Amino acid sequence: MRLDKYLSNAKIGSRKEVGKWIRKGLVTVNGGVEKNPKTDVSYHDEIYFKDDLVKLEEFIYIMMNKPKGVISSTEDGPSQTVIDLIDHPQKDELFPVGRLDKDTTGLMFITNDGKLAHRILSPKNEHFKTYHVTLRDQVSLSDIKRLEEGIELSDFTTKRAVAEKVNDHVVLLSISEGKFHQVKRMFGALDNEVIELKRISMSSLELDESLSLGEYRFLTEEEMKNLS
Ligand code: URA
Repeated sequence: MRLDKYLSNAKIGSRKEVGKWIRKGLVTVNGGVEKNPKTDVSYHDEIYFKDDLVKLEEFIYIMMNKPKGVISSTEDGPSQTVIDLIDHPQKDELFPVGRLDKDTTGLMFITNDGKLAHRILSPKNEHFKTYHVTLRDQVSLSDIKRLEEGIELSDFTTKRAVAEKVNDHVVLLSISEGKFHQVKRMFGALDNEVIELKRISMSSLELDESLSLGEYRFLTEEEMKNLS
């Protein structure tokens, strides 16, 4: 990454301002003054602006308890996104891994690590996502069996899933796919309707229930190790 981009990503100033400061000799890279804004630097370099070390992180891993009314995308538009809720100097690099509907709450994994995101989302790796599903009508044991064996939808048949009836109106459903509105469509095919949907886990990552809606935290070393 160019030195001026590195510093502006770290919110030291605009690209133009940091370019000026670099040319003035206010920036050092690994102990030496660097006056060329185009110089290539990496996350492993030691970069100082005046007396302050400017540290960007190579990889950022965040879990959020997504609230309703917020979309899980990075796009600017009229709706607030999950990224808008994050306060981090490298916020522009972040993206959510997978999607949740606007009215779905719960676990959202957010990172700038494209390779890990790809591994988690790749259908061939069968990473399960578990949803706490609240339903309008009672769920029967034959519904549970159908959910587990695969449900024929208009465009595809769902893969084997794991479904556990918590009570007459609540099911914990684990699926390895992530098609558009999949959980809602699966229950729709059983003539039922999802009233509340919350994702509680994704691969080995479990929602930290101490996070209130809209709150987030960085993953622990242990969570990271289990994910990769
Ligand atoms: N399935 C849905 O229907 N909606 C979600 O947000 C996630 C899975």
